[in-house]
Amino acid sequence: MPNLLAEALIRDVPDFPKPGILFKDITPVLEDPAAFQEVIDLLVEDAKAKGAEVIVGIESRGFVFGTPLALQAKLPFAMARKLGKLPYEKITEEYALEYGTNIVEMHIDAIKPGQKAYIVDDLMATGGTAAAARNLVARLGGEVVGFGCMIELTFLDGRKTLEGIPVHALLQF
Ligand code: AMP
Repeated sequence: MPNLLAEALIRDVPDFPKPGILFKDITPVLEDPAAFQEVIDLLVEDAKAKGAEVIVGIESRGFVFGTPLALQAKLPFAMARKLGKLPYEKITEEYALEYGTNIVEMHIDAIKPGQKAYIVDDLMATGGTAAAARNLVARLGGEVVGFGCMIELTFLDGRKTLEGIPVHALLQF
């Protein structure tokens, strides 16, 4: 794995949002254009290598990484949003998080049948969030060709949850 500028910028915040969780704060990466650009470049490279036809970003930080990725790759961007945010007809998936539960939704026309989707988030912990997005894409008839993230928390074994989908993580902790 290459030495990333982002690595030294990620800030550990203990006991957030709950006691026992070591939160990986990525905001300093967003404040450093060279580090942020490097992350986007590497994710674009992977999305292209996987033959992505649409980028799916998971709210909220998946939007922060997914939209520049989609623009740079010249691909459409589709949102997997939290409960109650999408205005049009949608489908829903509930999933367990490292700290709690959540629901994500997608518009029924966000993915075209057979479209190759590349899912993006800032961080993979248990993989539950990415798996929910994978399920939404699959239910809409899309093909998930990969999941890309800046950070993987390897001790939570998210790759197991996402079995069958290639995971590309730029940094592992
Ligand atoms: P998971 O579904 O367990 O893979 O959790 C991934 C989602 O929760 C991502 O959207 C992350 O932004 C967030 N998340 C989970 N654990 C952490 C953590 N320790 N630090 C920062 N974000 C986290």
